[in-house]
Amino acid sequence: MFRIAFALFSLILMTTLMTAQTASVSQPTVWATKPDAAGFEKLENDRLAAARTSIDKLVAIKDPRTIDNTLTLFDEAIRQVNAAGYLAGLMEQVHPDATFRDHATAMLTKVSAVQTGIALNHDVYSALASLDLSHADSATRYYVHRELLEFRLAGVDKDEATRAKLKELNQKATDLQSTFDRNISDDRKTVEADPGELAGLPQDYIDRHKPGADGKVQITTDYPDALPVFTFAKSDDLRRRMLIAFDTRAYPKNKEVLTDLLKTRYEIATLIGYSSWADYNAADKMVARGANIGDFIQRVDDAARPLADREFEMLLAEKRKTDPDAKQIWDYERAYLSELVRRQQYDFDSQSVRPYFPFMQVKQGILDAAAALFHVGFEQEHNVPAWDPSVETWLVIDHGQPIGRFYLDMHPRPGKFSHAEMAPILDGIRGKQLPEAILVCNFPAPTASDPGLMTYDDVQTFFHEFGHLMHHILGGQQQWAGITGISMESDFVEAPSQMLEEWIRSPQVLAKFARHYNTGEPIPADLVARMNRASAFGRGGWVERQTGFTAISYDIYKEKPENVDLDAITLDTTRKYTRFTPLKETHFWASFGHLGGYSSAYYTYLWDKVIAEDFFVQFDRNNLLAGDAPARYRRLVLEPGGSMSANDLVKNFLGRPQNMIALEKWMGEEFDGSGAGSKAAGK
Ligand SMILES: [Zn+2]
Repeated sequence: MFRIAFALFSLILMTTLMTAQTASVSQPTVWATKPDAAGFEKLENDRLAAARTSIDKLVAIKDPRTIDNTLTLFDEAIRQVNAAGYLAGLMEQVHPDATFRDHATAMLTKVSAVQTGIALNHDVYSALASLDLSHADSATRYYVHRELLEFRLAGVDKDEATRAKLKELNQKATDLQSTFDRNISDDRKTVEADPGELAGLPQDYIDRHKPGADGKVQITTDYPDALPVFTFAKSDDLRRRMLIAFDTRAYPKNKEVLTDLLKTRYEIATLIGYSSWADYNAADKMVARGANIGDFIQRVDDAARPLADREFEMLLAEKRKTDPDAKQIWDYERAYLSELVRRQQYDFDSQSVRPYFPFMQVKQGILDAAAALFHVGFEQEHNVPAWDPSVETWLVIDHGQPIGRFYLDMHPRPGKFSHAEMAPILDGIRGKQLPEAILVCNFPAPTASDPGLMTYDDVQTFFHEFGHLMHHILGGQQQWAGITGISMESDFVEAPSQMLEEWIRSPQVLAKFARHYNTGEPIPADLVARMNRASAFGRGGWVERQTGFTAISYDIYKEKPENVDLDAITLDTTRKYTRFTPLKETHFWASFGHLGGYSSAYYTYLWDKVIAEDFFVQFDRNNLLAGDAPARYRRLVLEPGGSMSANDLVKNFLGRPQNMIALEKWMGEEFDGSGAGSKAAGK
């Protein structure tokens, strides 16, 4: 069965390679004109002017309103504003010149002003509301209903004075949110340590942290400095001091900022007619109501608790090897004890897989896996101008025709965005505009002397972002810009990306590309098995921690702001959802940046994890390409883009709404079969 599976796999790859030769596309690439700052500004201003012209034309229409004379103009405005926003956002993150990046930031403010102007334009709202949709197709009907909801949520149908107030409050909330974020990134703390306290940390870390003239080592709260301390430092006291420094970042500064943000958002929500920000914020999402977030938290907690308890007992047993009477585990011991258990009971060292993951091989492997899964081809376009010579340009080919384009900007550069993301560049409109997107990542660059070895987490991240990318391209074949690609309920978009993450655990997929960069030897099956077992340890606890964060994000936004005690909510939720003992002198919420951006919607990550696992178990684990799951997944989940509600996408693919069963199975994998975990946990 396995052999047939592989034959099929290569057959599909051959087809994609053959079709790839025939494609050509007339749409210019994003950087075709190589604009300087002035050229960029003209390009953007032209787009914003075109959007305004469309809106003016729409408002001026005297004839009876039709989809053709009204919705078409509205959607053209959306297409232009979105494209302007995408490009400005991208340039802010990737342009090598800091002055150019500043131009891009200023341009983003301009784009958002145009967006707000449209959202609060009562004439546009009435025009859309008066459309006769009785003969429209279901996607068009869904689009108009959704837009009308967004207009109402913006407050378009309120009186003049209320709309002016809303504009002011929204501007205030935006400013407070950016102050909240900036306070976090600006507050870099330092912990002083004796050189001996670095015992247990990797040698290259110790080499980078030499003591100064006073004999002390300085360790900052930057991630590459702080995170290894939590995982590897043998010194309890160093980890404790580091956690206090880490979880008091932006404290007390952010106390006033966050309190003010809660008040501002509460005021917006109540002006629109909702009883809390959590309720208001949920109104255009899958979750629909704030109370449903509370129910979801409860169900995830029920599902995760038994496993989290079991893992906790394993960690406690580990701690008792050196402290026989231990009854509790402090927050600052969690990562350290987990690492000990992984190494000792699962015999896995994360460094050992890196030689099998050189960047170029991984990239080809992910393209091949996606080509086979989604039944498409990829064709690189050469000699395409870009802001950096390392950027690659690719076409996505379906049945011999290009259906989208993407760019890969994959390696670090000074001044570049430092995480990993997929960003849309153009909305796909059937017959008019190909969808385009980009991956902006920071994976090690291959050089003549260094193959750019990736970690397990890097490869998983690459799959994750590629999942977003395929969603935007395959979903980007709609009639309207406003419902294409990932323009949909924002609490669904992390599902296709988390689903594709699972591909890294498939021996079938890994066998295609994970080969030793020196010897060409395929990754040993035994190493893959140990890697998968070790990565499965701690999932119950991870879910409970995420549940705790989700509860903080919900609890502070579901209340009247005057009832919110940030410290009490944070400590209570930590105690409620995890068994680790928090330190009273920390103020975690002050540096929990998502309380600004996600606000009450931090549940999105777990919500989509539930859906992603439910999707994944529909595939044959031994052969991910078998059966009709791949074709159905593409057709029913990705291709509709935002043309229907995500709750319907899920039901169409699963035949029912999502449930917790697959997540429970995923969490419990560490205890499946006869792995080391089950032995240790049995006592
Ligand atoms: Zn994502």
